[in-house]
Formats: sequence, C-alpha cells, structure tokens
Amino acid sequence: MALAFDEFGRPFIILREQEKKSRLQGLDAQKANIAAGKSVARILRTSLGPKGMDKMLQSPDGDVTITNDGATILELMDVDNQIAKLMVELSRSQDYDIGDGTTGVVVMAGSLLEQAEKLLERGIHPIRVAEGYEMASRIAFDHLERISTKFEFSATDIEPLVQTCMTTLSSKIVSRCKRALAEIAVKAVLAVADLERKDVNLDLIKVEGKVGGKLEDTELVHGIIVDKDMSHPQMPKRIEDAHIAILTCPFEPPKPKTKHKVDIDTVEKFQTLRGQEQKYFDEMVQKCKDVGATLVICQWGFDDEANHLLMHRNLPAVRWVGGVELELIAIATGGRIVPRFQELSTEKLGKAGLVREKSFGTTKDRMLYIEKCANSRAVTIFIRGGNKMMIEETKRSLHDALCVARNLIINNSIVYGGGSAEISCSIAVEAAADRHAGVEQYAIRSFADALDAIPLALAENSGLPPIDTLTVVKSQHVKESNPHCGIDCNDVGTNDMKEQNVFETLIGKQQQILLATQVVKMILKIDDVITPSEY
Ligand code: ADP
Repeated sequence: MALAFDEFGRPFIILREQEKKSRLQGLDAQKANIAAGKSVARILRTSLGPKGMDKMLQSPDGDVTITNDGATILELMDVDNQIAKLMVELSRSQDYDIGDGTTGVVVMAGSLLEQAEKLLERGIHPIRVAEGYEMASRIAFDHLERISTKFEFSATDIEPLVQTCMTTLSSKIVSRCKRALAEIAVKAVLAVADLERKDVNLDLIKVEGKVGGKLEDTELVHGIIVDKDMSHPQMPKRIEDAHIAILTCPFEPPKPKTKHKVDIDTVEKFQTLRGQEQKYFDEMVQKCKDVGATLVICQWGFDDEANHLLMHRNLPAVRWVGGVELELIAIATGGRIVPRFQELSTEKLGKAGLVREKSFGTTKDRMLYIEKCANSRAVTIFIRGGNKMMIEETKRSLHDALCVARNLIINNSIVYGGGSAEISCSIAVEAAADRHAGVEQYAIRSFADALDAIPLALAENSGLPPIDTLTVVKSQHVKESNPHCGIDCNDVGTNDMKEQNVFETLIGKQQQILLATQVVKMILKIDDVITPSEY
C-alpha cells in the first residue's frame, strides 16, 4: 500500500500487487478448505487402531522415520496448505494436552468436514452447521461422562494401569513387547507421581536409547543414565557413595586471553607460566577434594593435560554433559548446579549411592549410570533396539503410554475403546437430533454420522467389512443397552471391550471430540481465502 498525491495535492492510496492475489469466496472457499482438511485426514485414517498401517517418511536430508503416531506423521509431513496446517496443529494440541489419541482426533475432524460438505451442498448455511456441531459436541461430551466408569488402582496394585498402557501400545510397532513396556511405563510414572496431590511431573522421567540389544532388554533405571563416560580410561569405573560436584563453569587452568600480550621469549618465562597454570588447576582440584567431592560432572570440556592431572590426583570426572542432563542429575542427587568455581561448597554436592560406567557389546560405547540417588524420584527408561528407527519409535510409543498412565492418575475415569464410546455417543446424539426443532438438527444428525467414522475405520483397517460390522455392533448397543460393544479388531471372539480390557481415558476422549469440533467450526467459518497466486 502506498500513499500518493494527485496534481491537486489530494491524497489517494495505491493498492499494490492486487492482481497477484488469487481469491476464493463463499461456498468455493469452504469446499476448497474442506477438501484440504479431508485429504490430511485420509492419510491418517489407515493408521488408526491396533491393525493400523505404519508410515514411512523421509526428511529432506535423507533421514527415514517409520511411525504409527498421528502427531509424528503430521509433524514430519511437509504440508503447504494453511488448512492442512490447522489439522497438523490439531493433532499437536491433542499430543500436548493428552499425549494419546492423536490419530483419532484428525480422523474425527476429517469425517466432520466430510459430513459438513454434504450439508453445505444441501444449502444449509455454514453458521447453522457450526452451531449444530457445537450442540452435538456438548451432548457427546456429557454422554461420555455418563458412560464413563471409575478405574480403581493403587500404588500396590498396578495391574489395571498396566492394562490401559497395553491398549495404547497395542496399536504401535512395539506391540510385541507391550506387556514389558507397559510395566516399565507405569512403574516410571508411579516413581515420579504424587498420588495424594494427583500430580505427575513427566519431566523427571528421562528416556534414553542406545542401538544394540533387543527391545526386551529395555529397562527402567532408578536414577539417571548419561551417554558419557569417565574422561580418562584409568579412572575408576565404579564409585560407591559418590559426592558429586556439578559444574557449569570451566574446569581447567585459565587460558591467557589473546587480547593481552604476553611476551614469552625465554624458556624460564614459559616454564613459570606453565607452572602457574598447573598450580592454579591443582588448587581447583584441591578445592574439590576439600569440599568432599569424589566425582566431578562438568558441562564443559578440559584438555588432556588437565585430564591427566585429574586422574593423577584421583578425582574422577565426566566432561561435556548437556544442560538438561545436568539439571536432572542435580534433581536426582539433591545437588546444586555450581556456575562459579568459587561457590563450590560441601552442601552443594549431590549424593548418589552408586555411580558406575557400563560398556555395551564389543564397541567402545559406554554409559554412566547414576543410581541410588538421594532423591529417588528421577528415573530413566533405557531403550535398546536393533536400529535407530526402532528406538525412536519406541520412544514415541512410550511417550503415549506414559501420558496415559499420567492422565489416569490425574483423573481415573475411563471409557471403553475400540470405537464403543463413539458408537454410544453417536446413538445419543442421533436421539438428541430428533428432539431438536431447528435447522441445526441436520448438523446434529451429521455429527452422529461423523462419530461412526472411528469404528468404521477401525473395522476397515482390521480387514472386516466396515458397514456390516458397524451395523451389528450398533444394534447390539441398542438391543442390549450395553455401551461397551466395539470393534473386535484382534479377532478375540467377543466385541465387549470391557472383557477385552480395551479402554481409554475419559479426558482424552472428551478432548478429542472438543478439539475436532473446534477446528471444524473454524474451517467452516472461513468464507474468503486470499492467497498470493503463483506465477
Ligand atoms: P491414536 O494415535 O489416536 O491413539 P491408535 O492408532 O493408537 O491411534 O488407535 C487408537 C484406537 O484404537 C482407539 O480408538 C482404541 O480404542 C482402538 N484400539 C486399541 N486397541 C484396540 C483393540 N485391542 N481392539 C479394538 N480397538 C482397539
């Protein structure tokens, strides 16, 4: 935009580049947006459920990721369309809030959009559709609350929690070891949980992985594992009752700054300087010993000479430890991070019952285990696996399982899975549509149809005839008024999800419905799309 003046001095505005913009208005805009949203949902649809397919994604620099996690698939897909980006954002918000159900939420939104398109074609105003959806989502939200049950568990009886985590893991690539991984996840969450305050700090759980071994070797370590080793091979590999100095300041003799000119023109001068440097470092080591440190963990490195001296003075050290790890070590060992060497004191040292270095296979790979810490609340899950892709996918799957366990501790209400909750909501919403007098009833009814998309997709992905399966299950719901009937994806022989022990958290399911509705409403309300056109 520019302001110009004509020959009489009157101002006028020139709008530049108008011709370069392309514009979609009204129904065309909504249709284009719906098509974009639907195409993203279609990609994820085949990944839903225990028999869902995995996706392989290659990044521009050639890294390959194989995953089944909705949020990760969308994160790695390079989408250009703004509406498609909204769907990516949708999956991400479910991931942030709940951690699980990231595929389901997108499939749900896609199906809502599909139904909305039909309504728009029939001439119903988008605002009416949006309002109808809003009403229907509230009905479904309340209905979920009604069909939910309380889930009983205690710190001693963890079996129910393990079962829930197994449901989450059953749809992932790692389902082979779901029992072991679910137990690890639950134990880890319980270790960091405050059951009384119903609070879980997942930041205290560190997930570390190393290529090699089998998935079954994955273990839970009550302490911290750092992918580092002692700075010198001759330092002790095992320190009991360690007092740890955690330093973020350099731990080496000061280097003469190049800005200041130091003339060293004789051998004596050089030796004096060197002697002084050594003395300075010696004093640093002595200071560590004086305060009682038996191990030094540093954020920065030190040179070979310093390393040798440390070995000589019998002070084991670890260098180049990352900031996040330092923080976790400080929390676990009850120590303080020391940013300036002068501030080092006895009470700032962290305490750990055992620090040991463990080597893996025939490689030079070593890791440092810090165990029996003063504060036992920080734990590490150490994943082993055949290749990097497997480890990364295990990390993502465990994240979902950890989130599910956390959600259950925060709120122990559950609804049954396998599409049963959606079918039950669909019947309730359908019934509500009949009672509503306004135009919105069409949208409410469409919402009920959209809810069927989850069981349909689950059946389709499991190789079952979708419509037939859904009709059978739905009639069972109505006849037996049993809200636990879902899709028997694994061919167990019963479609009662209560018997199959397939359930999901109530807050997760409610969040899915709310988030999907919000995004669809937002998309429906856009009636003008102005984009720079390509040339
Ligand atoms: P999300 O990323 O949304 O969690 P998943 O691929 O994990 O997607 O699939 C979750 C869906 O699969 C849920 O609707 C859940 O109820 C269903 N599900 C999981 N395990 C089973 C099972 N054993 N039988 C039937 N349905 C299952």
